[in-house]
Amino acid sequence: MATEPGDGPLALLRLIEDLPGEQRLNEPLAPYTTFRIGGPARVLFFPKTVEALAEAVRRARREKVPYRLIGGGAKVLFPDEGFPGLVLHTGLLCRAFDTEEGLWVEPGFPISGLVKRGLWVLAGIPGSAGGAVVMNAGTRHGSISSYVTAVQTLLPDGSLATLPPEECRFSYRSSVFREKRLPVLGVGVKLPEEIRPVEELLAERRRTQPLGFPSAGCVFRNPEGASAGWLIERAGLKGKRVGDAQISEIHANFIVNLGKARASHVLSLIEAAQSAVRRLFGITLSLELEVVLP
Ligand SMILES: Cc1cc2nc3c(=O)[nH]c(=O)nc-3n(C[C@H](O)[C@H](O)[C@H](O)COP(=O)(O)OP(=O)(O)OC[C@H]3O[C@@H](n4cnc5c(N)ncnc54)[C@H](O)[C@@H]3O)c2cc1C
Repeated sequence: MATEPGDGPLALLRLIEDLPGEQRLNEPLAPYTTFRIGGPARVLFFPKTVEALAEAVRRARREKVPYRLIGGGAKVLFPDEGFPGLVLHTGLLCRAFDTEEGLWVEPGFPISGLVKRGLWVLAGIPGSAGGAVVMNAGTRHGSISSYVTAVQTLLPDGSLATLPPEECRFSYRSSVFREKRLPVLGVGVKLPEEIRPVEELLAERRRTQPLGFPSAGCVFRNPEGASAGWLIERAGLKGKRVGDAQISEIHANFIVNLGKARASHVLSLIEAAQSAVRRLFGITLSLELEVVLP
């Protein structure tokens, strides 16, 4: 029998219970995000193999149940109401392999692990290799797209494919995996020849980013030729607070969670920033943050 989106956790559990992994029912998502915000997932599943992740996605697609992948949860805002479906967490898929073509990592391999192996341009970015590919994560020194040699994914017809970088449609903080919601199942990486110590880069981030409070990094993309943080600051919104969510006093493109912020508070601040910047500068700020709608 097909599973309906309105079905309870047990119906969803039946979909994945024979796959190797760990399941949690009605599990709050806040602890799995850097924002520390988000209500319960009906089922949270940690597949133990990449094959189990791919099969879970296949089944969720076939049964048309809502599903989401997460890695480090460093770029995602889940609703206070929670997620009425299956959340697939890549945290147990964190192996790295040295192959003849270079490094190959599972989707949950930490970005910090890539940095330790030499990918210094990503120093200080929290999250997983899978999330980094989806978001084309980067710093002013470069983005992961310049170092990706191949990405394994599951096509809409259910077949596995290994895409070369030119088919990943990388752009500023986006990729085909973000546009089409395709799972990242593995990533090939070529490490840069240049080696740079990362302490200085990390110290710069500590000076310029509000790392003392939970957040999800930059909320908005920088519009062509401008900085979203500067526009929000000029609109007078630095420090503005709704509930326990605040536009950071250190970096206005960050929203921080001062304690018990709710997704609704963050969404109010997002709307306030967008409307003030539109009114003053005629610029529409688009979201870099991945907002999951209720
Ligand atoms: C303090 C702080 C600083 C940051 N600084 C930077 C920065 O300098 N540069 C930068 O680019 N980003 C930055 N970020 C944002 C974040 O670290 C990156 O976007 C990172 O790549 C997110 O990875 P993640 O695993 O946490 O993704 P998640 O938040 O888990 O997921 C992000 C999106 O990708 C999807 N997803 C995750 N894994 C997969 C997968 N395997 N397959 C398919 N979809 C998947 C999710 O569904 C979601 O849509 C910062 C965040 C914080 C909190």
